[in-house]
Amino acid sequence: MHIVAKHLTKSFGSFQATKDVSFEIEKGSLIGLLGPSGGGKTTILRMLAGLEEPDSGEILFHGQKVNQFPPQKRGIGFVFQNYALFRHMSVFDNIAFGLTVKKASKQEIKKRVGELIELTGLQGLEKRLPHQLSGGQRQRVAFARALAPEPQLLLLDEPFAAIDAKVRKELRTWLKEMIAHVGVTSIFVTHDQEEAIEVADEIMIINQGRLEQKGAPIHIYNSPETPFVAGFIGESNRFEGDVADLRGFEHIGVDSGKAIIRPEFIEIGHKPEVSFPSAAENGVVKNVYFRGSSWQIEAEVGDRKLFAYRSMQLPALSPGDNVLVLIHKLYIFNENQQTVVE
Ligand code: ATP
Repeated sequence: MHIVAKHLTKSFGSFQATKDVSFEIEKGSLIGLLGPSGGGKTTILRMLAGLEEPDSGEILFHGQKVNQFPPQKRGIGFVFQNYALFRHMSVFDNIAFGLTVKKASKQEIKKRVGELIELTGLQGLEKRLPHQLSGGQRQRVAFARALAPEPQLLLLDEPFAAIDAKVRKELRTWLKEMIAHVGVTSIFVTHDQEEAIEVADEIMIINQGRLEQKGAPIHIYNSPETPFVAGFIGESNRFEGDVADLRGFEHIGVDSGKAIIRPEFIEIGHKPEVSFPSAAENGVVKNVYFRGSSWQIEAEVGDRKLFAYRSMQLPALSPGDNVLVLIHKLYIFNENQQTVVE
């Protein structure tokens, strides 16, 4: 389903939950709504679903305004974080629910539910009740149930939140493949950036009721448009101040602002290890942490502290070591306008 949202605003009493939110979603894409708690993600999802009416703005499905359409007229499937399965119904009956409501024939139901059981790998579990399933299996049932009536849009509210970490990782890869296979336009809410980056074709960053940025995960990561986005996606060192010396980058013309440096864009080490020692600053190592795939080094450069990642292929540094610090990329945000210095 092709979706357009124009200037969506929604208040609860005097509190504005969403402010002038506009976006377009291409048919068949998988979108992650990402942001901190209370930012308005669920409110956006509920407005698309027809569970909440916007105070102003428009929602168009396939070019048709649907603001007044009730949820059941919108061709939507839902998956919630707490599964919301019918506790006294078997796996088969849970999946069949939407088709039964639609008064599909017994034969049709058997065929469609059979297909979905296979698609979701639930063979052999048809007669079980929800409490006889694992969290991951229950979420697969919820997914199959949402897909049964062949919705044009699938809305998933924190679909992995109630599942333990290992299964969650498996389930999200599975979900991504499954959604690509079915080809249904899907939007999921999450506050987990790793999840959004891994699963979504495009991420929408929602903060304090506003859409801060929308784009492919790699684009958002490499080119954050606001300090909030830079801080929310990926790791960052944050500084505030005036630019004293741009060393050949004078054409950029920034004089002050918030600077953000990702730890992976900092090279840190003894002189021969650093690629352009003459361009590097002197620093002192303060702390070293083992992260599994890399070292995290906290260092002091002048009167500022920063943290960087150092490859595990290189020898460990120790607190007190005098090192060189080379910054490869820096984002400067000047009145919300972003400049990249590389
Ligand atoms: P979370 O990740 O915690 O679910 P969210 O980004 O989904 O957060 P929303 O659930 O959309 O955020 O809520 C946005 C704001 O609107 C919150 O401050 C919330 O308290 C408020 N809000 C949501 N629904 C209602 C309601 N029915 N009545 C009053 N306030 C509401």
